[in-house]
Amino acid sequence: ESQSDCPPDVEELGRSTWTLLHTMTAQYPERPSLTQQLETKSFIGLFSKMYPCWHCADDFRSWMKGGNEPRVSNRDEFGKWMCEAHNAVNVKLGKKEFDCNKWEERWRTGWKDGRCD
Ligand code: FAD
Repeated sequence: ESQSDCPPDVEELGRSTWTLLHTMTAQYPERPSLTQQLETKSFIGLFSKMYPCWHCADDFRSWMKGGNEPRVSNRDEFGKWMCEAHNAVNVKLGKKEFDCNKWEERWRTGWKDGRCD
Protein backbone atom coordinates (compact mmCIF):
# COMPACT_ATOMS: atom_id res chain seq x y z
CA GLU A 1 0.00 0.00 0.00
CA SER A 2 2.62 2.58 0.92
CA GLN A 3 4.57 1.25 -2.08
CA SER A 4 1.65 1.83 -4.42
CA ASP A 5 1.17 4.74 -6.77
CA CYS A 6 -2.38 5.44 -5.65
CA PRO A 7 -3.52 8.52 -3.70
CA PRO A 8 -2.89 8.12 0.04
CA ASP A 9 -5.73 7.21 2.36
CA VAL A 10 -5.99 8.76 5.85
CA GLU A 11 -3.72 6.06 7.33
CA GLU A 12 -0.91 6.40 4.82
CA LEU A 13 -1.10 10.18 4.93
CA GLY A 14 -0.98 9.98 8.74
CA ARG A 15 2.10 7.72 8.85
CA SER A 16 3.97 9.93 6.40
CA THR A 17 2.97 13.09 8.24
CA TRP A 18 3.95 11.79 11.66
CA THR A 19 7.34 10.87 10.18
CA LEU A 20 7.76 14.46 9.00
CA LEU A 21 6.50 16.03 12.24
CA HIS A 22 8.51 13.86 14.65
CA THR A 23 11.60 14.25 12.47
CA MET A 24 11.15 18.03 12.61
CA THR A 25 11.21 17.82 16.41
CA ALA A 26 14.30 15.57 16.23
CA GLN A 27 16.12 18.24 14.21
CA TYR A 28 14.84 21.14 16.31
CA PRO A 29 17.59 23.05 18.15
CA GLU A 30 18.36 22.41 21.79
CA ARG A 31 18.47 26.19 22.16
CA PRO A 32 16.14 27.73 19.56
CA SER A 33 16.21 31.45 18.93
CA LEU A 34 13.04 33.44 19.61
CA THR A 35 12.51 33.63 15.85
CA GLN A 36 12.79 29.84 15.50
CA GLN A 37 10.25 29.42 18.31
CA LEU A 38 7.81 31.87 16.74
CA GLU A 39 8.18 30.35 13.27
CA THR A 40 7.65 26.88 14.67
CA LYS A 41 4.43 27.93 16.39
CA SER A 42 3.34 29.61 13.22
CA PHE A 43 4.08 26.44 11.20
CA ILE A 44 2.04 24.30 13.59
CA GLY A 45 -0.83 26.79 13.48
CA LEU A 46 -0.91 26.78 9.67
CA PHE A 47 -0.35 23.03 9.50
CA SER A 48 -3.39 22.52 11.76
CA LYS A 49 -5.50 24.47 9.28
CA MET A 50 -4.10 22.94 6.10
CA TYR A 51 -3.65 19.25 7.01
CA PRO A 52 -5.59 17.62 4.20
CA CYS A 53 -7.80 15.40 6.37
CA TRP A 54 -10.28 17.98 7.53
CA HIS A 55 -11.81 16.19 10.49
CA CYS A 56 -8.28 15.27 11.64
CA ALA A 57 -7.25 18.92 11.39
CA ASP A 58 -10.34 20.11 13.28
CA ASP A 59 -9.73 17.67 16.13
CA PHE A 60 -6.04 18.58 16.25
CA ARG A 61 -6.93 22.28 16.59
CA SER A 62 -9.48 21.53 19.34
CA TRP A 63 -6.87 19.49 21.21
CA MET A 64 -4.41 22.40 21.02
CA LYS A 65 -7.03 24.90 22.19
CA GLY A 66 -7.91 22.70 25.16
CA GLY A 67 -4.72 23.58 27.03
CA ASN A 68 -2.20 21.95 24.68
CA GLU A 69 -0.58 24.88 22.91
CA PRO A 70 2.68 23.90 21.19
CA ARG A 71 5.70 23.82 23.53
CA VAL A 72 8.68 24.93 21.49
CA SER A 73 11.16 26.22 24.07
CA ASN A 74 13.69 23.46 23.25
CA ARG A 75 14.04 20.15 21.39
CA ASP A 76 12.96 17.90 24.23
CA GLU A 77 9.87 19.99 25.03
CA PHE A 78 8.85 20.10 21.37
CA GLY A 79 9.52 16.38 20.91
CA LYS A 80 7.46 15.51 23.99
CA TRP A 81 4.66 17.85 22.94
CA MET A 82 4.49 16.21 19.51
CA CYS A 83 4.45 12.80 21.16
CA GLU A 84 1.51 13.92 23.32
CA ALA A 85 -0.29 15.23 20.24
CA HIS A 86 0.22 11.86 18.52
CA ASN A 87 -0.95 10.03 21.65
CA ALA A 88 -4.16 12.08 21.70
CA VAL A 89 -4.89 10.68 18.22
CA ASN A 90 -3.82 7.19 19.28
CA VAL A 91 -6.32 7.31 22.16
CA LYS A 92 -9.06 8.62 19.89
CA LEU A 93 -8.45 5.74 17.46
CA GLY A 94 -8.14 3.10 20.20
CA LYS A 95 -4.41 2.54 19.49
CA LYS A 96 -1.77 1.97 22.16
CA GLU A 97 -0.20 5.06 23.73
CA PHE A 98 3.51 5.56 23.08
CA ASP A 99 5.91 6.16 26.02
CA CYS A 100 6.97 9.76 25.45
CA ASN A 101 10.21 9.28 27.39
CA LYS A 102 11.26 7.23 24.35
CA TRP A 103 10.44 9.76 21.65
CA GLU A 104 14.09 10.57 21.02
CA GLU A 105 15.16 6.93 20.67
CA ARG A 106 12.37 6.34 18.16
CA TRP A 107 12.93 9.49 16.11
CA ARG A 108 16.46 10.84 16.67
CA THR A 109 19.11 8.59 18.20
CA GLY A 110 17.81 5.10 17.41
CA TRP A 111 17.19 2.48 20.09
CA LYS A 112 19.70 1.76 22.85
CA ASP A 113 19.96 -1.89 21.74
CA GLY A 114 21.64 -0.70 18.53
CA ARG A 115 19.06 -2.16 16.17
CA CYS A 116 19.01 1.03 14.11
CA ASP A 117 22.81 1.33 13.79
P1 FAD B 1 0.97 5.98 13.26
O1 FAD B 1 0.01 6.43 14.32
O2 FAD B 1 0.92 6.68 11.95
O3 FAD B 1 2.43 6.05 13.87
C1 FAD B 1 3.61 5.79 13.10
C2 FAD B 1 4.73 5.37 14.02
O4 FAD B 1 4.99 6.40 14.95
C3 FAD B 1 4.38 4.17 14.91
O5 FAD B 1 4.63 2.97 14.26
C4 FAD B 1 5.26 4.37 16.13
O6 FAD B 1 6.56 3.84 15.93
C5 FAD B 1 5.39 5.86 16.23
N1 FAD B 1 4.51 6.45 17.24
C6 FAD B 1 3.26 6.08 17.61
N2 FAD B 1 2.76 6.89 18.53
C7 FAD B 1 3.72 7.81 18.79
C8 FAD B 1 3.82 8.92 19.67
N3 FAD B 1 2.81 9.25 20.48
N4 FAD B 1 4.95 9.64 19.68
C9 FAD B 1 6.00 9.30 18.87
N5 FAD B 1 5.96 8.28 18.01
C10 FAD B 1 4.84 7.53 17.97
N6 FAD B 1 -6.47 9.20 11.58
C11 FAD B 1 -7.81 9.03 11.74
O7 FAD B 1 -8.34 7.98 11.35
N7 FAD B 1 -8.58 9.99 12.37
C12 FAD B 1 -8.04 11.16 12.82
O8 FAD B 1 -8.76 12.02 13.36
C13 FAD B 1 -6.64 11.37 12.63
N8 FAD B 1 -6.05 12.54 13.02
C14 FAD B 1 -4.74 12.76 12.71
C15 FAD B 1 -4.18 13.99 13.04
C16 FAD B 1 -2.86 14.26 12.69
C17 FAD B 1 -2.29 15.61 13.02
C18 FAD B 1 -2.08 13.29 12.02
C19 FAD B 1 -0.67 13.60 11.58
C20 FAD B 1 -2.63 12.06 11.72
C21 FAD B 1 -3.95 11.77 12.06
N9 FAD B 1 -4.53 10.53 11.77
C22 FAD B 1 -5.88 10.34 11.97
C23 FAD B 1 -3.71 9.40 11.24
C24 FAD B 1 -3.33 8.45 12.40
O9 FAD B 1 -2.71 9.18 13.47
C25 FAD B 1 -2.32 7.37 11.96
O10 FAD B 1 -1.23 7.98 11.29
C26 FAD B 1 -2.92 6.30 11.05
O11 FAD B 1 -4.05 5.73 11.67
C27 FAD B 1 -1.87 5.18 10.77
O12 FAD B 1 -1.52 4.62 12.02
P2 FAD B 1 -0.35 3.62 12.27
O13 FAD B 1 -0.87 2.60 13.25
O14 FAD B 1 0.23 3.12 10.99
O15 FAD B 1 0.80 4.43 13.05
